[in-house]
Amino acid sequence: MDPVPRYKIAIVGAGPAGYFTAQALQNAQSDDLSFSIDMFERLPTMWGLVRSGVAPDHPKIKTVAKVFEKIASEPDFRLFGNVEVGTDLDIEELCPRYDAVVMCTGSSIGKTLGIPGEDLPGSLSAADFVPWYNGHPDYVNVNVPLDGDTAVIIGAGNVAMDCARMLGIEPTELDPTDTASHAHAALHASKIRKVYIAGRRGPEHAAFTAPELRELPKLEHTDVIIENSAVQEANERAQAAGEIDKQLASNLEAWRLIAEKPLEGHDRVMEFRFLSAPKEIKGTDRVEEVIFGINEIKGGKVVDTGETYSIKTNLVITAIGYHALPIKGISYRDGKVENDEGRVLGTNIYTVGWAKRGPSGVIGTNKSDASDVVKLLIEDLGPEPKNGGDISVVIPQAIKVIDQAGWTKINAAEVAAGEALGKPRLKEVDVAKLISLAE
Ligand code: NAP
Repeated sequence: MDPVPRYKIAIVGAGPAGYFTAQALQNAQSDDLSFSIDMFERLPTMWGLVRSGVAPDHPKIKTVAKVFEKIASEPDFRLFGNVEVGTDLDIEELCPRYDAVVMCTGSSIGKTLGIPGEDLPGSLSAADFVPWYNGHPDYVNVNVPLDGDTAVIIGAGNVAMDCARMLGIEPTELDPTDTASHAHAALHASKIRKVYIAGRRGPEHAAFTAPELRELPKLEHTDVIIENSAVQEANERAQAAGEIDKQLASNLEAWRLIAEKPLEGHDRVMEFRFLSAPKEIKGTDRVEEVIFGINEIKGGKVVDTGETYSIKTNLVITAIGYHALPIKGISYRDGKVENDEGRVLGTNIYTVGWAKRGPSGVIGTNKSDASDVVKLLIEDLGPEPKNGGDISVVIPQAIKVIDQAGWTKINAAEVAAGEALGKPRLKEVDVAKLISLAE
């Protein structure tokens, strides 16, 4: 009997898109087809946004990491952590050695507003703030001024909501979480008591999802404010606009519950401001004030009324989406890898996840995305595997590659360090120390 052809696939990026791509390949194996998978990750730590994106007070979402580790434990899966594709290893070195290369590198650069004052100290992107509190080694030194009493979050999506909760909840609620130590200490010392969340359209247009909204009335130490009239008007506009789908109905109901919950007089407050378009961030040496234009909705369209209002603050966090950080050898368009349904035309490169479709969807969305792209990848495979030689010989000797055994040691060390403190893990944020934990 002929041996089963074994195709070699490189996956770049050890986040949800990367692991679900590996899983889709593993699931597609048959008596006629098998894969060996090499996963490359620039950090010594794995799991992408599950580690450095998901909010620490949402530990259930992180349990998907168990699935990732199961995928990594399957035969013919190799991990090359601490290896940066585009820097340590070129795309041109990967492509000839693999039957396919799948870019699962996400989108890590925050979109900007393009308004005056955005560069002032105290104005930062969620793309910096989120990895700061999650202990991403590159973001440990982000300056997050927490000495004022007010913060303003711009954007009405789930990332804005995560940022608002991290600033707005009582910090003891973060004690049993894996919030990075530096951020945990800073948030305990934070003077911020009021967090505004500003959306440029109405509550009915917000990108928050209902489970996130439904958490708000349950916060034990924070009052959450949205004007009753704002919710009523949103309902009226939504009804006037036509049929209300299930998701919107669920959001409108969640808004009603927030608006109707009596305030308890907590000193910590989160307040939603809708129809508020950021116009300018003002300040001399740091952020002092944000000017918002007041919008209205006329005939279903968002219109600037010409009126403005301002909020005094020393901290503005912009959470309005992301674009991909370009990698040498890959072409990008509109902040994504240039692709046709996941194929990078004319190459043996594919892409899955935020790098492919932009920053949308929850972690599970990457599962169906990966399985769709893997189907195309399999359609495109040649009749015989390529046998282009092993990549290990090309990786510069000076790089300490973190393999699956090494990552397992890092993971175990963090979990053990956390256990003593009643936390799921204590994250190490120093790359050299992470590498030494793998030894
Ligand atoms: P998002 O859901 O696309 O929301 C972006 C928000 O930014 C929208 O409200 C948008 O308003 C606003 N925005 C865009 N440009 C703006 C501008 N120039 N001025 C003011 N506002 C502007 O993006 P995200 O919050 O970054 O989340 C990314 C994805 O991750 C989403 O699919 C999200 O659900 C997911 N996620 C999920 C969770 C979870 O499941 N718990 C947590 C975090 C993230 P317009 O609608 O008016 O454009």
